[in-house]
Amino acid sequence: MNANTTTSLDKVKTHLSAKCFNKLYIGGRFVDPIEGETFPTYYPATGALLHEFPRGRAKDIDAAIAAAEAAWAEGTWANMAAADRAEVVARMARGIEDNIEMLAEIEAADVGKPFREAAAAIGGSTAEAKYWCSLGAVLDAEQEVPVNAGGGKGGVPPEGWDVVYRRDPIGVIGLISAWNYPLNVAFRKVAPALIAGNCAILKPSEIAWLSCMFIAKAAQDAGLPAGVLSVVTGDRDAGAALAASPAVSMISFTGSSMTGAKIMEACAPKLSQCALELGGKSALVVFEDTDLDRAVATTLNGFLTNGGQICTAHTRLVVQKGLEAPLLDRLRERLEKLPYCADPISERDRGDPGSADGLSDVVQPVVCESQHRKILGFLDEAKAAGVEVVTGGGVPDAATVGHEGGYYVEPTVLTHVARDADVWQKEVFGPVLSVRSFETEQEAVLEANSTPFGLASTVMSSDPAKARRVANRIRAGAVYATSTGEGLLAEHPAVQRGGFGCSGIGRELGIGGLHEYTELKSINYTGFSLDDAKKQSTG
Ligand code: NAD
Repeated sequence: MNANTTTSLDKVKTHLSAKCFNKLYIGGRFVDPIEGETFPTYYPATGALLHEFPRGRAKDIDAAIAAAEAAWAEGTWANMAAADRAEVVARMARGIEDNIEMLAEIEAADVGKPFREAAAAIGGSTAEAKYWCSLGAVLDAEQEVPVNAGGGKGGVPPEGWDVVYRRDPIGVIGLISAWNYPLNVAFRKVAPALIAGNCAILKPSEIAWLSCMFIAKAAQDAGLPAGVLSVVTGDRDAGAALAASPAVSMISFTGSSMTGAKIMEACAPKLSQCALELGGKSALVVFEDTDLDRAVATTLNGFLTNGGQICTAHTRLVVQKGLEAPLLDRLRERLEKLPYCADPISERDRGDPGSADGLSDVVQPVVCESQHRKILGFLDEAKAAGVEVVTGGGVPDAATVGHEGGYYVEPTVLTHVARDADVWQKEVFGPVLSVRSFETEQEAVLEANSTPFGLASTVMSSDPAKARRVANRIRAGAVYATSTGEGLLAEHPAVQRGGFGCSGIGRELGIGGLHEYTELKSINYTGFSLDDAKKQSTG
């Protein structure tokens, strides 16, 4: 560890002395965990200890559930207009926005991502919150909508019935999130869940979570009623206790497909709902009529952004034969010149955060020791199976990184990858690109659809009609059809997305993303009308 990394780490440790980064948040109060245990988190750039944090266990989860049940039974939050709830959430978002600099330094230290990328991501999260807040009034307008409004397209109820739809909150719900964009993934659940009127318990990932604790502080400062949101960190036991609790009527989960299956199992006996945002193995399909420079930039952004630790990372390159050799040559050339990000906390100035290229112009460490080991295991297995390593394939030396230690992996491109190889079929979640080539459009579609995942994919071509034909046949919740690479990995809050196959169940974002946190209910008035029912009672 050199002097610079020590200084930046000390600065983050000062931020972390605040109460919200040292306690669980249950029932509107920052509290110590019942068992009094802690667990450590390390700076991925060096492996140095970053912080010790309270470890929430099943008992703490139970306390948070009890607080949520009490708030739900009391009913103030659920009975407010959604637009009024949205005002409270907007205050929370402003609290986060006012502290982006500090939170980005904390996420840079916790995840190992360059400061400027963390700042851009958290800024994106607060911008997204404004969208969620704008939907409060939309949800209010959807309450008590007559079933036969709009001409009874789906048929009209019997004469004499006055039937309306309502969208009710679900009740006490669990939000379990992943570590790769800690605050973004968590707040994308918290904001719509609260605006919909639920009482929620957030359980962030035990791998990187510190910025999520600030959501609790923002909730307290915004005046969110006690018990409506609790935040309990802890490992998979805490998550499992939350998912299995009979009092929890829904789990919204973001994480790996393997854990998603366990969540479904936990929800099955009580037939409670689960929304699952899971892993991916996205394909970038490049036709040979694509501009080479754009293909290079898109490939790099697709697999290197956030060190490849992004669910929609385009880690499979499906390239048409004529472009394969020039594209691989250019990738090797660019990757072998990429500088390493020795100190993510202070990585502010290199690159242009406003341009797509700025996202992948340094090599960041991966998040933790176990993830580092897992990625290297994938590489060892691939090499043993005879894949060709175009570039990378191992761990950079200290001179290349700028210091000893840390969880760095060389950005790696593998070719001659078998379709059934793990590096083609499984999510590596690191800076590893696997390449296969094709000749015909039919083969391109076959390659793109050759894994159990279906989260996102991109087709690049200068022929719009061809791009459309292929995009229509790709099985993924979000497909980008582009001649430029523009928009790759971008998400717009109004555009719904989610997974086909092993990439998940349900949809996030858009109005459908808010509806996920509601139950649709019909009220059937007979003998009197809704208008009668709305009049003040006389008795
Ligand atoms: P993970 O599945 O290991 O853990 C996710 C969360 O689940 C953590 O909070 C963990 O403590 C909890 N958990 C683990 N076992 C549990 C159990 N049995 N019951 C209940 N909770 C349990 O995933 P991760 O390593 O934190 O995150 C990386 C994964 O997340 C990748 O697969 C990535 O693709 C996926 N991801 C998906 C999206 C998306 O929108 N689709 C976004 C970000 C990340």
